[in-house]
Amino acid sequence: MFRNFKTVNRFVFGRGCFNQLDDILAPQRTADCPDMVFVVDDVFKGQSLQERVPLRADDLLLWVNVDNEPKTAYVDRLTTEVRKAMTERRRALPAGVIGIGGGSAMDLAKAISLMLTNPGSSADYQGWDLIRHPAVYHAAVPTLSGTGAEVSRTTVLTGPEKKLGINSDYTVFDQVVLDPELIAGAPREQRFYTGMDCYIHCVESLTGTYLNAFSQAYGEKSLALCQEVFLQDTTPDSDDKLMMASYFGGMSIAYSQVGVAHAMSYGLSFVLGVHHGIGNSIVFDYLDDFYPEGVAEFRQMLDKQGIALPRGLTANITDDRLETMVNVALMLNPLWENALGKDWQQIMTRDRIRDLYRRM
Ligand code: NAD
Ligand code: ZN
Repeated sequence: MFRNFKTVNRFVFGRGCFNQLDDILAPQRTADCPDMVFVVDDVFKGQSLQERVPLRADDLLLWVNVDNEPKTAYVDRLTTEVRKAMTERRRALPAGVIGIGGGSAMDLAKAISLMLTNPGSSADYQGWDLIRHPAVYHAAVPTLSGTGAEVSRTTVLTGPEKKLGINSDYTVFDQVVLDPELIAGAPREQRFYTGMDCYIHCVESLTGTYLNAFSQAYGEKSLALCQEVFLQDTTPDSDDKLMMASYFGGMSIAYSQVGVAHAMSYGLSFVLGVHHGIGNSIVFDYLDDFYPEGVAEFRQMLDKQGIALPRGLTANITDDRLETMVNVALMLNPLWENALGKDWQQIMTRDRIRDLYRRM
């Protein structure tokens, strides 16, 4: 069966296009549901971006904290907060949920928009196609580029039992606002690590067994843009390129899959709370056997950008926690199959994966 996948309905791209957000949202406001919910990374509190959020009368500005990557309990709390605010306004639902921030804030916006129309806890929907009812209209404004969260059909959440996305067609954003000016202020290291998420998406997609012409077309262009951004000197349009790389990288994996670095990074993240981009980078540096060319080029990027990867993460880890890490990574069958083929279990044994983790 071929995947018949849903994509974002509308994109606007260009420097300063964030100023159009109010006009873009206006048609979504109806007499019954006139209010927007802006889910904004609290790093922008008191910054100039705060003043530019196009709040109208009864709109809700929901500051979110992403020091930890999104958890299901946090999504549930935020959804309750939105419901309560809507009840106070005597509205059934908001007109839309708009996520402004990096992958974490965008994922929170996706998750809230889904949970406003689906009963229970967000943890109940971690998996594939478990969502029953369409989400509230939702839009994304990325302020960091690389994850591809702006185009993907998932919102990655850490629940009580697992780190797994809510994957569904309803998860996909209705609108994305790509304004390269918004990523200019991201801290240098964060920009690099989130950018490497994109680079690693491309390497894993392009070398995977699931590759097809669709994924290859997007993956090759995205990879070339990452090379321009991270191996060459910065130019005035570097952020424009990084934004498009993220979008194309996301489109590439939409029709293929990621691989070894992502599977192992999920284990690091679940047990040690390591964030996605940095976790991928830490793991990738040990994957010469799997991605020799990609890893060599990645090290050139580290050099060019003057980034020193953290080391010794697992130095004092207990055996129990190490086993959990191995379990979380090995749960991700499609990632391993994409990377290593149908017989992946013969290639990536528990011993081998444990040994790799111990070296990190
Ligand atoms: P992030 O959203 O976690 O943000 C990282 C840090 O950068 C935070 O401290 C944030 O406050 C700060 N930040 C963001 N934009 C900034 C800006 N313009 N200026 C200054 N600081 C800024 O980082 P990320 O790498 O974009 O996203 C990682 C998250 O995305 C993880 O939670 C991961 O699970 C998720 N993810 C989702 C998908 C998907 O398809 N849904 C794919 C990959 C990763
Ligand atoms: Zn990723």
